[in-house]
Amino acid sequence: MARRLTWCEVSTGNLTANLREFRSLLGPRCELAVVVKANAYGHGLVLASRAFLDAGADVLCVHDLWEAEVLRRAGIGEPIHVLGPVAPDQALEAVALGVSLVAYDAALIRALDAATPSGHRTRIHLKVETGTHRQGVSLEEALALADLARGLRGVEVAGVASHFADVEDTTHHDFARRQMDLFRQGLDAVRRAGWPEARGDLANSAATILWPETHWDRVRLGIGAYGMWPSAETRVSAAMIHRDQIALRPALTWKTRVAQVKTVAPGEFIGYGRTWRTPRSTILAVIPVGYADGYDRGLSNLAHVLVRGQRAAVRGRICMNLTMVDVTDIPGVVPGDEVVLLGDQGDESLSAERLAQWAGTINYEITTRIAESVPRVPVETT
Ligand SMILES: *Cc1c(COP(=O)(O)O)cnc(C)c1O
Repeated sequence: MARRLTWCEVSTGNLTANLREFRSLLGPRCELAVVVKANAYGHGLVLASRAFLDAGADVLCVHDLWEAEVLRRAGIGEPIHVLGPVAPDQALEAVALGVSLVAYDAALIRALDAATPSGHRTRIHLKVETGTHRQGVSLEEALALADLARGLRGVEVAGVASHFADVEDTTHHDFARRQMDLFRQGLDAVRRAGWPEARGDLANSAATILWPETHWDRVRLGIGAYGMWPSAETRVSAAMIHRDQIALRPALTWKTRVAQVKTVAPGEFIGYGRTWRTPRSTILAVIPVGYADGYDRGLSNLAHVLVRGQRAAVRGRICMNLTMVDVTDIPGVVPGDEVVLLGDQGDESLSAERLAQWAGTINYEITTRIAESVPRVPVETT
């Protein structure tokens, strides 16, 4: 394959270390499910999934069935749980892929039952509404579904799930605590309704870090497994209760190489829209990365990249596949020099959180939007 001028290095060692940190927070019988949706938060679906399984993940959570198919084709036989919607007419495929899934409607449950070969059961987690108003049904509806499933041979209510609305958005957790209470009621009711083994499946990364009482039988770790904190608020909340010792190691370094170096006279405009004008004789480096690669156009005239261990400011608008950066004060930059867009170089560091601040978004979006066309290369350490 042709050598690529932009790529991401993914530290499997750091993914492994993060999982060990989280495992140490969990009780012995709590399952560790790692969420690998959105190309494993940008880290490469198959690459990251393998690393997590090697590190002892019990379950991989995907959003959509097609991701489960990619994992199965890659030879991954471990448990896969589908978090997102599955239509009744996808039931045969779901059964063939051997996944468990979130369920919240009778049509899907009946279709799964019909698609499951006799002697087998497809495992579902009923999603109960606790206040996020995304997926999920009321407790009454969940109990009706639990009842429906009891009358079918092909499905098993293996868990009860819900999802927090704002654990990571605030240091005041009254709403989250109410969600936790509603969840407990839902779980207890489904267990009493004939599914005593149903797993409690509630916590995301922030809840896993902050509250052991949300762990129940399974936690669903996304952002934390990739070495990123869910938010600054989560970090503050954790510090207040002395649960911030957990060492998270970011695992992704996004790199490219300088394509061209040029000197531009004072008073010249740079790029589309002429949004930046050189105040002095300026040395620009052109790098082959743009918004189509996932380098957010909102970073125009705001972000820095790292070259020769120093920060170089983005000048002008980020183009579709190219960006100009200012290397006037960095001696000796030549074409071919390695550039870091996200990650460490020398003593300098550009975190996903820093890019998110510049772009007006969250770390989740920064890494998940790195285009799939950018190769992910596993490395042992960063
Ligand atoms: C994405 C997702 C998670 C993971 O959340 P993090 O904050 O990344 O840990 C957990 N549960 C569900 C239902 C999700 O969609």
